[in-house]
Amino acid sequence: MNMALPPAAEEQVRFLLNLQRLLEEGSFVATYKHALLLSIADVCVEKGDDAGGRFRISTAELAEKFITYYWRQAVPYYSTGRNQAGAVLKQNTGRQAAVISAISKAREDHGNSLAQLKMNPPAWEALKRRVTETIRVMPLWKLQTVGGQKLEFLYVGVRGDETVIELKEGVCYCLRLFYGLVHELVRGAWLRFVRSINENKSLLGTASDLSDFMFGSGRAALEVYRQILIEYQHGNCFYCLRPLKDRSDVDHFIPWSRYPVDFGHNFVLAHGACNTRKADRLAAVEHLEKWCERNEMYGEELTVAFQERNIVHDQKASWRVTAWAYEQAQLAGSFVWRQDDELVKLTSAWRTLLR
Ligand SMILES: [Zn+2]
Repeated sequence: MNMALPPAAEEQVRFLLNLQRLLEEGSFVATYKHALLLSIADVCVEKGDDAGGRFRISTAELAEKFITYYWRQAVPYYSTGRNQAGAVLKQNTGRQAAVISAISKAREDHGNSLAQLKMNPPAWEALKRRVTETIRVMPLWKLQTVGGQKLEFLYVGVRGDETVIELKEGVCYCLRLFYGLVHELVRGAWLRFVRSINENKSLLGTASDLSDFMFGSGRAALEVYRQILIEYQHGNCFYCLRPLKDRSDVDHFIPWSRYPVDFGHNFVLAHGACNTRKADRLAAVEHLEKWCERNEMYGEELTVAFQERNIVHDQKASWRVTAWAYEQAQLAGSFVWRQDDELVKLTSAWRTLLR
């Protein structure tokens, strides 16, 4: 690790201003730049740290994230309440974005399941190579151009044939610190761009569910987790430990609103009431302890079960995302949810669990 310090407050503000400028003044002919920004932020959360130094990301890692973002968007969109045929939303002002077409095809070939595609290494690698190529020749070198000028605040300029980018000092730190803010900014810009494309206008009408379609967690798909998780909780609610009876909610332990990636090991089963009360908060340290214990003891068994049912999972990444979420919450002085309406201030006790 290089010797670096976390960026000073002014540098953090400068980072946010640069990002805002890039989104407001940059020229966009496709949504690749939006996907690239979110992909970089995700890799920082899953693999980076808070030391403040430079951080290297391979274009293949970016391609994986890219595919994950577009995977859910490469299906026909049907506007609710409008009696018309659905169509895949356009993500480019000219012809449909090549990545979307490639992913649509991959969806058809692999039963619409990303996990199934990943279990077919030749097909998965081929799609990744294709997307990596697009990232290299398109958004990677164009992203940091604003009004014909360079605004290289994220990474050092690339020529187009690199397999790795190096984030500048402080960038990984800022993306982890401002992850929620960055996500809101970029997703808002992405949505506005998709809405502005002519061909999408008739399809979208005044639809208000576009954000959920493009970025929401596939609620229906969560059902499959129930059968797997119930056994590891002995039929009880993960939080209050009372029996679940026949109804339960599949809860994102680290809330979807904080980190919108569905990794199998992040899920627990809870009463609807417990889930609703926890809402978008992190759970208290005693719950974190149970989550760590479950994944330490049964993580590999769960991996096998997720694999069998085509569920996306990455235990190591889940672990790191959880550590990141608690770190940021403590930094922000957050309160965490214990039970009913009880909130407690997060102390550093979580650190011993997530070493
Ligand atoms: Zn409960």
